[in-house]
Amino acid sequence: MMEEKLRIESRLAQIGSQEDPATGAVNYPIYHATAYRHPRLGQSTGFDYARTKNPTRAVLEEAAAALESGDAGFACSSGMAALTTIFALFRQGDHLVVSLDLYGGTYRLLERILSKYGITASYVDTNDLDGLESARRPETKAVFIETPTNPLMMITDIQAVCSWASRHGLLTIVDNTLLTPFFQRPLELGADIVVHSATKYLGGHNDVLAGLIVTKGEELSAEMAILHNSLGAVLSPHDSYQLMKGMKTLALRMERHEQNSLAIANYLLGHPAIAEVFHPGLPDHPGHEIQNRQSSGNTGIFSFKLKDARYVEPILRHIRLIAFAESLGGVESLLTYPAVQTHADIPAEIRDAVGVDDRLLRFSVGIEHADDLIADLAQALEAARAELEAAAVPGGGQA
Ligand SMILES: *Cc1c(COP(=O)(O)O)cnc(C)c1O
Repeated sequence: MMEEKLRIESRLAQIGSQEDPATGAVNYPIYHATAYRHPRLGQSTGFDYARTKNPTRAVLEEAAAALESGDAGFACSSGMAALTTIFALFRQGDHLVVSLDLYGGTYRLLERILSKYGITASYVDTNDLDGLESARRPETKAVFIETPTNPLMMITDIQAVCSWASRHGLLTIVDNTLLTPFFQRPLELGADIVVHSATKYLGGHNDVLAGLIVTKGEELSAEMAILHNSLGAVLSPHDSYQLMKGMKTLALRMERHEQNSLAIANYLLGHPAIAEVFHPGLPDHPGHEIQNRQSSGNTGIFSFKLKDARYVEPILRHIRLIAFAESLGGVESLLTYPAVQTHADIPAEIRDAVGVDDRLLRFSVGIEHADDLIADLAQALEAARAELEAAAVPGGGQA
């Protein structure tokens, strides 16, 4: 059992380290068994069948609940599986109010799948309380927020939304993937449910697909346990182990992700090819003050807009250390082109309205040395400039 008083760094490093008194193993073992003997009729060891409860997964789930200051944790086979499980709380006719700049997969789940079951969503700037209020209907059951959003790094005041929601009897669900409980704990600010794509920072190494749900309150936790077991999209014992191993180093990684992303954002701010940098850690970011109030640090992701869309293709071709790939939150740096990758399922009108256009790149900054990352970006920007200049000279670029 982990001590409540220990700081989060200590609790992270010690996940599962004191849970196996029989052997004293400092890492909790992987239990592959799907069935568990009953001592006698009417008795159980607490484990019956692995979909309902598995010892390895249970250690992860307890750790997740404690880290997010919740009552119960549920490990799922992906972030999308976690979201599907949460949305199964709702029934035909229910309506949700949702962050405008939403993760593309969540948008697709709501619009392509949940809409078939008569569950609808309105997309609003969740930091605008008047906008929230005008989106609210008699059948609204919950508000779903991402803060910061990805890729535009919009910040929502979690406490303000939670108090609005609780006044109207709505649940508040927060996707905390980008900040993790190391930097932000929405349940402490009044939220009811926290969800993670643990594939990202919690796992941290681009090698495990996982989702986590943490709930607050006895009734909601009991209902979520029924949904988790009934839908069956649970995390395997091996992946549960893999995720715990990643989480042990979360504190170190998040600190480095934050430092690196700020260093690179500041470098890009001064670069002549860059029009705008979206990083909540920069003092002139519109969400800077709220972000500082509700979180103890910044995520490693930010985005930036080029002055000229023609830079995008050569930059992606010339980066060497940084990989052109879609995902985020791992130790390796990845550059993503949201308009054609992560956000392709969001209609162009909505994308343009929020600003996810063809000049925007998203950077998931890894834990490499900041100077090496800056040097890689600098050479890719310079190579792009040289190519465009050669193409602009009459006859240039054509041998
Ligand atoms: C990746 C991601 C998801 C989906 O998680 P998977 O693990 O890929 O299924 C949900 N929300 C956010 C914010 C994400 O970044």
